[in-house]
Amino acid sequence: MKLVRYGEAGAEKPGLIDADGVLRDLSEHVPDITGATLGDGALDALRALDTSALPKVAGSPRMGPCVGDIGKFLCIGLNYSDHAAETGADIPEHPILFFKANSAIVGANDTVVMPRGSTHTDWEVELGVVIGTEAKYVSKENALDHVAGYCVVNDVSERHFQTQLTGQWTKGKSCDTFGPTGPWLVTRDEVGDPQNLAMSLDVNGTRMQTGNTNTMIFTVAEIIEHLSHLFTLHPGDVITTGTPPGVGMGMKPPVYLKAGDVMELTIEGLGTQRQDVAADA
Ligand code: ZN
Repeated sequence: MKLVRYGEAGAEKPGLIDADGVLRDLSEHVPDITGATLGDGALDALRALDTSALPKVAGSPRMGPCVGDIGKFLCIGLNYSDHAAETGADIPEHPILFFKANSAIVGANDTVVMPRGSTHTDWEVELGVVIGTEAKYVSKENALDHVAGYCVVNDVSERHFQTQLTGQWTKGKSCDTFGPTGPWLVTRDEVGDPQNLAMSLDVNGTRMQTGNTNTMIFTVAEIIEHLSHLFTLHPGDVITTGTPPGVGMGMKPPVYLKAGDVMELTIEGLGTQRQDVAADA
């Protein structure tokens, strides 16, 4: 299933994309797509619906973040061997963890606004993992049983804020609009193996990032195992799992976003995001 939240920001409705690509409304069946509706039983109930009987949604409404009321937005850094090589960083011994403020989360096609004074705003296409059932002290062998599904995340990053403002990466990762998430939450049964998904990111039609989740240093299962030994993962938490090569910071010379640019991100089976870039006045 491809679950979505559509409509105006803050007033999104639940929906799904049917086999023909048609958006259909789920408001009669669930109040929203949140942790409360992502457990195996709740997803099975949605799967059992006769999709063709669900109301079609007219027009092309905005796609909101594909998960509402996200509890924790967890980010793994330097998790692709080819990206670590690009940045000259050593392969980490354990997953590098940082947070992105939840207030950064926006829809897949919402405008990304560079904060005042930003000169080093960069892109990162990433596989997002949506937790469906509580996970504490789980092993990698059954870690994926706790996943509701997957989505595309753009881990937009202000590199100067991230590395030069005397603090944690969080400073450069949490600016408003720096967390486009969606368009779809694709359930784990439909995705299959999360470690073999092609991914790409274009800026103004030029391919910048090309990768595959098969070059992750720590797999999704290993990340869940590790994090679940640090704290409980709750339904509706999202983990974004690192980016493949081709970020602006890694280019020679570096290339950063400017107002008027357009980013397009795709992960195999998970849909496409498209964001205009603007600058805060
Ligand atoms: Zn990232």
